[in-house]
Amino acid sequence: MSTSPRYGFTTTILHNDRQKEIEHGSPHKPVHTSVTYGYKDARDLAEVFQGKQNGYRYGRQGNPTVSALEDKISKMEEGVASICFATGMAAIGAVFQGLLRQGDHIVSSGFLFGNTNSVWQTCSEQGIDLSLVDATDVANVEAALRENTRIVFVETIANPRTQIADLKRIGELCRERGILYVVDNTMTSPYLFRPKAVGAGLVINSLTKSIAGHGNVLGGAITDTGLFDWSHYPHIAANFRKQAPVAQGMAQLRAKALRDFGASLSPDAAHQIAVGAETLALRMARESANALALAQMLEADERVSVVHYPGLPSHPQHALASELFLAYGALFSFELKPEIDCFDYLNRLKLAINATHLGDTRTLVIPVAHTIFFEMGPARRAEMGINDSLIRVSVGIEDTADIVNDFRAALG
Ligand SMILES: *Cc1c(COP(=O)(O)O)cnc(C)c1O
Repeated sequence: MSTSPRYGFTTTILHNDRQKEIEHGSPHKPVHTSVTYGYKDARDLAEVFQGKQNGYRYGRQGNPTVSALEDKISKMEEGVASICFATGMAAIGAVFQGLLRQGDHIVSSGFLFGNTNSVWQTCSEQGIDLSLVDATDVANVEAALRENTRIVFVETIANPRTQIADLKRIGELCRERGILYVVDNTMTSPYLFRPKAVGAGLVINSLTKSIAGHGNVLGGAITDTGLFDWSHYPHIAANFRKQAPVAQGMAQLRAKALRDFGASLSPDAAHQIAVGAETLALRMARESANALALAQMLEADERVSVVHYPGLPSHPQHALASELFLAYGALFSFELKPEIDCFDYLNRLKLAINATHLGDTRTLVIPVAHTIFFEMGPARRAEMGINDSLIRVSVGIEDTADIVNDFRAALG
């Protein structure tokens, strides 16, 4: 690959498999369903087990169809290696299972995907100290750092209020202090933003969302950008220290999180995700344009009290989003004036679907305080800026006029 020309984002995804040899010239990597792999020479099998040669051994740790997707994700994120998991949450859980120990400390943005918030609560119940901070200002992250801080974790655009972490400055801080910087890139996707550009060591993607994009398959991934020096990370087991420093983190994550806990991506799912990923750029561009049109229409309407979308000049981090992201993404949230009940409004929408999930081809709407953020309770919701009437919208690829008219007509 090193001698081939550098292609653009979509060309790379479309042709990455074909640049390695595939039988019959198949443009798609075939779905390999075998769980185990046979070797003519038993010594080769032994060498694969001992890490002396590359090869597949058992489906939980690796599969050729899944590897082809991992390679594509690495290309999208400009990383050195990726590991796929059964879901995005399994990828986040892998960070916990594979890299953290009792007595460690993590600093995380407090504006978090609800289930990630729950994982961090589990971590703190199991002896890992947790500081949740307002990561829109690096000073809050810096003030929370301790001697035992192992990881700083942020999302690019927070769901549902669309706060944007101080991505670049946090990256500089982590580099100075030698701390692993983990960025969940799900909301932006590698088409709009590559966290490697701001110094992330590991990048998380829920493949379920924009990358697969059609709401029909679950998956997750961790990508190592190659920027973090694992030789300084204290919890790499002796077994993985034998590898080059750049490979140690992923070797341990693959073994401890994927092999031991087993949340492996199926080859069928990997194939579906790879097909979805071919149109990631087209969908993200269209969804971002639709989201901007909707957000502008709603902000201009006097029946709407507030719209949170990084593409609007009224957004507190609009300038940062313009600097870092190719477009402003598919997700926004808004509140209606008190005289309009949010449930009544949602029920008047004809195209948008009352459903959780995001990054789908179809527009989805949800009253977040009553659903996905219900379990965490009113105090934590208040900290996250989530009012009872907040509506989250994940904008699809519908024709712009149709989706704008749907949201306008429902206003009254
Ligand atoms: C959905 C989501 C996840 C979890 O992904 P799943 O594939 O649903 O497990 C993690 N982070 C963010 C930001 C998400 O939106």
